[in-house]
Amino acid sequence: MTTYHAATEAVLKLIQKVQREHHMELDGWKLEVVFRTEAARTKGKTVLGKARLVSGLNSYLAREGGNAFFVLELADDAWDALRESQREALIDHELCHFQIKTTEDGDEIPYLAPHDLEEFNDIVRRRGLWKPDLVAFAEAAQLPLFGKALDGWKIERSSNGDPGDRPIDKDLQGVAAGRRGEATEGAPA
Ligand SMILES: [Zn+2]
Repeated sequence: MTTYHAATEAVLKLIQKVQREHHMELDGWKLEVVFRTEAARTKGKTVLGKARLVSGLNSYLAREGGNAFFVLELADDAWDALRESQREALIDHELCHFQIKTTEDGDEIPYLAPHDLEEFNDIVRRRGLWKPDLVAFAEAAQLPLFGKALDGWKIERSSNGDPGDRPIDKDLQGVAAGRRGEATEGAPA
């Protein structure tokens, strides 16, 4: 049976480091970190991590008075299988889901941001970078782009590029659960 426990000091330290370096906007916002003993599986993929927003009644029941707060859920088995660089990338990824927006009244509201990109490998294989978010993603990955035509860009990895430098393996690209209040990262089993 899956049970839950607190994160170790080492994990919390890693999260603090990534937050300080890249997510200063989360400063002062409550972020709970919880480990489950066994990773969940969604659509045949192991869930590496899950970003949640606890609000309303759940926040009240958590003795937070209804104030929304973030929860980062990780799993012992999935975490153990990751290299240190992948752990840091996973943390960085999950923290990207945690965002704060300011309303017209000036109130700050925490929310979960969706991924910048969702697409099928088959479509990119057949159609190339056919829309702006795909182009932005490829540029972010610093993938060399062959072919100048906007309607026919192809992605190929540089042959002299060292894949070992990549912060996260291709098979660790996250998938969104698409459910309100949570976002998950999956890796093929
Ligand atoms: Zn994600």
